[in-house]
This record gives sequence, structure tokens and C-alpha cells, in this order.
Amino acid sequence: MHLVWLRNDLRLLDNPALYYASRARQGVIVAVAITPEQWQQHGDAPIKQDLYRRSLIELEKQLNTLNIPLRLLPCQSFAHLPQALLTLAQQYRCQQLHFNHSYEWNEHQCEQALQQQAHEQGLHCQGHHSQVLFAPGSLLTGQGEYYSVFTPFKRKAWPLLQDSSLLPLPAPLGQPQSPCTSDPVLPWQEEADYRTDLWPAGEVAAWQRLQRFANRTLLTYDRQRDFPDIAGTSVLSPYLTLGILSPRQCLQAALAAALNGNKGAETWINELLWREFYKHVLFGFPRVSKGRAFKVETESLPWRQHQQDLQRWQTGQTGYPLVDAAMRQLNQTGWMHNRLRMVSAMFLSKHLLLDWRLGEAYFMSKLVDGDLAANNGGWQWSASTGTDAAPYFRIFNPVSQSQRFDAKGDFIKRFIPELSSLQGKALHAPWQFQHNLSYPAPMVDHTFARNRVLAAFKDKASLS
Ligand SMILES: Cc1cc2nc3c(=O)[nH]c(=O)nc-3n(C[C@H](O)[C@H](O)[C@H](O)COP(=O)(O)OP(=O)(O)OC[C@H]3O[C@@H](n4cnc5c(N)ncnc54)[C@H](O)[C@@H]3O)c2cc1C
Repeated sequence: MHLVWLRNDLRLLDNPALYYASRARQGVIVAVAITPEQWQQHGDAPIKQDLYRRSLIELEKQLNTLNIPLRLLPCQSFAHLPQALLTLAQQYRCQQLHFNHSYEWNEHQCEQALQQQAHEQGLHCQGHHSQVLFAPGSLLTGQGEYYSVFTPFKRKAWPLLQDSSLLPLPAPLGQPQSPCTSDPVLPWQEEADYRTDLWPAGEVAAWQRLQRFANRTLLTYDRQRDFPDIAGTSVLSPYLTLGILSPRQCLQAALAAALNGNKGAETWINELLWREFYKHVLFGFPRVSKGRAFKVETESLPWRQHQQDLQRWQTGQTGYPLVDAAMRQLNQTGWMHNRLRMVSAMFLSKHLLLDWRLGEAYFMSKLVDGDLAANNGGWQWSASTGTDAAPYFRIFNPVSQSQRFDAKGDFIKRFIPELSSLQGKALHAPWQFQHNLSYPAPMVDHTFARNRVLAAFKDKASLS
């Protein structure tokens, strides 16, 4: 019997831990730890946990057809997890334990403890890489260091993308009848309306979404991806975050078109590489997993403390329509368009001069695709504290971003009904045109805010 421990890899296809464990056909048990307290400590959004639970239900059905039971291990924290897995392994006399690596600090510590304890008990424990295309540490600079700038990382990765090791694995093999039965997937948090219509659960739904995107949208991705009112991106991030889909499956769906010179496919693969880059950064520079700035010298920036300003940003009441529409999209759907993530993150960190960690945590608490590596990377990029950061003097003007990327204001109108009577230019800067709206005036003047943040950054002599 072989035991497979799954976390953010809830799929049958291209799942190395599951596939390699299944090859002996000696019986497989899949174990998933249910650790709501640990997830809460990590700030995981209820909507993300809901998609996780519903996808577990789908996975259980699929595993059942292969005679693979799904066992759920309730654990208070990651600290209790290795023992729970080893007890299960002993109970069914498992000879091997397989899992796929996770690269966050706590997750990695948990793996290490498991490997150590399994070794002491004589249980063969095998980790595999499936969250990424390239194992962290396998793409390094000429000096043997982790990359801290995206472009050379991307250049190193591109020639390797056709390697046969990046072909997805097939489904695991069916097993003999199991002595073990599956556990029911019971809710572990309060039930609520999590817009399940937007986030269908399970591998089949994710695969269909990938196919639809590859057939319809991929080829124009480079031209349409920046406009929030157009369905110009894949919206696959929740499925990649929870491992309902693998990056190799995504890569293969786009590679042929990219190699034929299609710019849309090439640009999309570059976005997959941004995801990859941030996972490598997270592993190579563990401080970013622990709330530290990548650029350590930015830690002494004079962030303001202002709970009321934070709340206005969180609830979409800043008075800047594009920022507010973005925040309302996040609050209502659990997802935000990439252009808007940059705009709203810069607004919090640069216009309001509030600590980027507050924004990072708020995003995490609402995002269905909340991923420590990408979220931290995106926030630190926007706040100019991170790897490959936007230079500190790049400060998006929320009005010109709005005019450029939501020219007709259709996206704004969708999320800010208070502005539905306005047309054209007025939608981007309503305070300049009409004063009797039930919509707030801008909470901070752009030029004032820009000067304030520039002064704060310039004050740090070592920041260039
Ligand atoms: C402040 C901020 C916070 C972010 N937080 C997250 C997060 O918690 N989880 C998350 O998955 N992404 C995050 N991103 C990255 C990006 O915004 C989302 O991945 C993207 O909007 C998801 O939409 P999509 O699936 O349609 O992406 P597509 O444009 O279709 O891209 C395909 C996939 O590539 C990956 N990807 C795309 N852009 C990026 C990027 N800039 N960085 C890392 N990966 C990327 C995602 O997995 C995405 O699903 C954040 C970006 C910023 C600026």
C-alpha cells in the first residue's frame, strides 16, 4: 500500500505524487489534512476554502472510480500533521509516502519534519515537483544565485520549455479493492453564498475553462489582457493556486501556438513564468514568506497608520472610480483583474502611504486565488519594495489608468451603480463634473500624494 499526501494539488491528471504511487498497483490511499486554524492564520479567504472543499468533493468522486479512498486528517496546525500522516501509514502498513512540494516557509518546514520522522520510522518518503515547471534552485544566475529580476529568469526559462520533462503525466492507474473507505468532506466553516456560479469546482471544470480559453481568447491575449471590461484573460488563477490544474497543462495548451509565432500565446506563457518566478523567489528568499520586504532597506519607510483610510480603500470608497470598482470586484467576486490589482495596490501603498502588508493581507482575506508567492510578489512590485520592483517614482495616476484601460467606463459602471447616470470623461473623475452624487470626493489629491511618497522614498538615501 502507498500513501499520497495532497495539498494544493487536487487533481488526477499530471499529479506526480499520485501517478508514481499508483504505478505499483499495490493500493493507494490519498490523505488530505484539514487545518482550518492554520489556514486562518495564513489568512486564506473563506471563498478560497470553499472552492477547496468543493473541489475535494469532486476529487473524491474521481478517486473512487480508481479504488483510491480519500482520507481526511483534521489537524490543529501543521505541527501535528506529520504524526497524523505517519499514524495512517502505519495503520495500513504503507511502504511508501508520496507528496508534491509546496514552497512557502511553513509548508516547507512541515515537509522537512515529515521526511525526518518518516525516515526514523523506516518509511520511504518521496517528494515531487508539480506546482512549478522548474524546481526552485534549478534555474540560477551565472553566480549560482536565485534570480531577483524577472527578465533574465524568463530568458533562461524559454529555451527549456520544450523539454520532455514538461509534458503532463497521465492519470494514475486504477488500484485493487481497498480495505480503507473514504471520509465524507464535511464543511469546516460557516456556509455562505460564495458565488459558486463563478467558481465551478473540480478538475473537469478547470480543464474545460482552459480549453475554452485556449480555443477562443489565447490568440488575442496580448491585445486584450489589460482591459478589465473584456474577458481577455484566462481567469484560471484559482485553479492554478489550488492545483486543480497544473502549470504544465497550461504550458502545453499554449506552447504550439507560441512556437508558431503567436504573440498572444507567447505573452500568456510569460505570465505563467511570472508565477514561476515568484515561487522561486519565495523559496530562494524565505524572508518574503515571513512578512519582510525583499529590499530590506525599504523596511524603514514611514508608512502611515490610518485605520479609516484603510477601510475606505477596502470598501471601495476612495473617490477614485477605477480603484473603487476594483475593490468592489474583489469584495463581490473574490477575484480582481491584474491591471486593477496593480492600480489598487499602488493606490494603497503610494497614494495613501499605507504599509503594503496591510493590502497584501486584505487581498489574501478576499481572493479565491490567494497565493502567497504571487500576492506578495505583486504587492512588493507595486510598493517598490520587492524584486524587479517598479521604480519608486513610477506611480500610476488612477484617473489616467481609468481613461486608458476602461475608456468608456463600462467596468466602472458595472461595480459603481452610484455613477450609472454619468457618461464619458465624468466617469473617470466625477468630482470635476458633478457634485450632488452619492459617491465620495477623492480622499487624497493625486499631486499631493505623489509628492508625499516621492519625498518618503527619496529620504531613504540608499534607495535608488
Ligand atoms: C497586488 C497583486 C496581487 C496579486 N495576487 C495574486 C494572488 O494572490 N494569486 C495569483 O494567482 N495571482 C496574483 N496576482 C497576479 C495576477 O494578478 C493574477 O494571477 C491574474 O490576475 C489572474 O488572472 P488570470 O488567471 O486571468 O491570469 P492570466 O492573465 O490568464 O494569466 C495566467 C496565469 O498566470 C499567472 N499569472 C499571471 N500574471 C501573474 C503575475 N503578475 N504574477 C504571478 N502570476 C501571474 C496566474 O497563475 C494566472 O492564472 C497578483 C498581482 C498583483 C499586482
